[in-house]
Amino acid sequence: MSSPTRVLVLNSGSSSLKYQLLDMRDSSRLAVGLVERIGEQTSRLKHTHVTDGDTREQNGPIADHEAALKAVAGELSRDSLGLDSPELAAIGHRVVHGGMFFTEPTLVDDEVLTEIERLIPVAPLHNPANLTGLRTARSLRPDLPQVAVFDTAFHTTMPESAARYAIDPRIADRHRIRRYGFHGTSHAYVSRETARLLGKDPAEVNVIVLHLGNGASASAVEGGRCVDTSMGLTPLEGLVMGTRSGDLDPAVIFHLERVGGMSTDEIDTLLNKRSGLFGLCGDNDMREIRRRVDAGDEAAKLAFDIYIHRLKKYIGAYYAVLGRVDAVAFTAGVGENAAPVREAAVAGLEGLGLAVDAGLNAVRGDGPRLISPEDARVKVAVVPTDEELEIATQTYALVEKNSH
Ligand code: ADP
Repeated sequence: MSSPTRVLVLNSGSSSLKYQLLDMRDSSRLAVGLVERIGEQTSRLKHTHVTDGDTREQNGPIADHEAALKAVAGELSRDSLGLDSPELAAIGHRVVHGGMFFTEPTLVDDEVLTEIERLIPVAPLHNPANLTGLRTARSLRPDLPQVAVFDTAFHTTMPESAARYAIDPRIADRHRIRRYGFHGTSHAYVSRETARLLGKDPAEVNVIVLHLGNGASASAVEGGRCVDTSMGLTPLEGLVMGTRSGDLDPAVIFHLERVGGMSTDEIDTLLNKRSGLFGLCGDNDMREIRRRVDAGDEAAKLAFDIYIHRLKKYIGAYYAVLGRVDAVAFTAGVGENAAPVREAAVAGLEGLGLAVDAGLNAVRGDGPRLISPEDARVKVAVVPTDEELEIATQTYALVEKNSH
């Protein structure tokens, strides 16, 4: 029998489970789906059998990630794509925090699980859900390779000068405090796809990747290796995001504690869930913010301006870090769709060789595309991210390597 070619990708969030089943012969999707509101009474599983275009929904309580994965396995079985299929080569898991230990995709065994567990203090929201996904998948198919693909791995090439905070290294090391960065799978994929769009080898190209979704991060990628990124110990640092503040003076926290009388947990919630665009104007969806800006809303305009100012600062900073930039790539929900954000982020940067062609920027499209004028010194690109495909590709490559 020919070797199996399918990979199931699992992305377990704190209350959700996203999945895709891909066939790696042509990277096609066979099934995609999502379980939402896990642990609530109103959980929902939405499953699409891509080949048939058939979508099914299950509504009703799904208690935990284990029950969610079992429900997903049931749906896949109904399409004859079940976890027991001999064509399934591996399951690839998105794991948010791999610390400094995991620099590449890793075959999961007991030791790996223990290490992911040890990282819970630095990723309290994500790693527990990722672990449950891993453990449940292993219990359902103990014989199948399970591969962990870490959000932090792409950033482990950052030099110490970029990865360290300027605090006593003994204290930092004791508590594993350093800049890890996140969205690494996306930054890896998008920087490579940008090189491909330019017709060059990733090793020859320097790219600034702007991953602008609800969470947002920038990275400086030199010849395919990450040399700086905007998220740090946690995904709170850096750009203004949907609900996260991004960079602020750490003394703001002391001030909120001492003068504002807020608890640590309250400040944590404020900065992670009630700040950013949402905190500034009450909306975190860029579509709604743009609609309000166009209608003359002052709060939305200020939120947009703060968002763009921060973005521009990071473009400038990473330009300086890289020295030479071949391309700036916009990706994720905002980056791929919001032409006004792209236009505003590079406005006034002609001196750096950066510009956007208004006509090209306004065209909507699905694939990677250039939006800079033809003669631009630095290319500006829209490059749709595909984290699931990247996880599947890395998972399959590892399994293939191990089987030879
Ligand atoms: P996540 O971080 O949740 O994976 P996404 O990358 O899917 O986020 O991005 C979601 C965000 O993308 C939305 O909150 C919204 O702000 C933005 N977005 C999606 N579509 C558009 C659009 N057509 N125009 C502007 N912004 C958009």
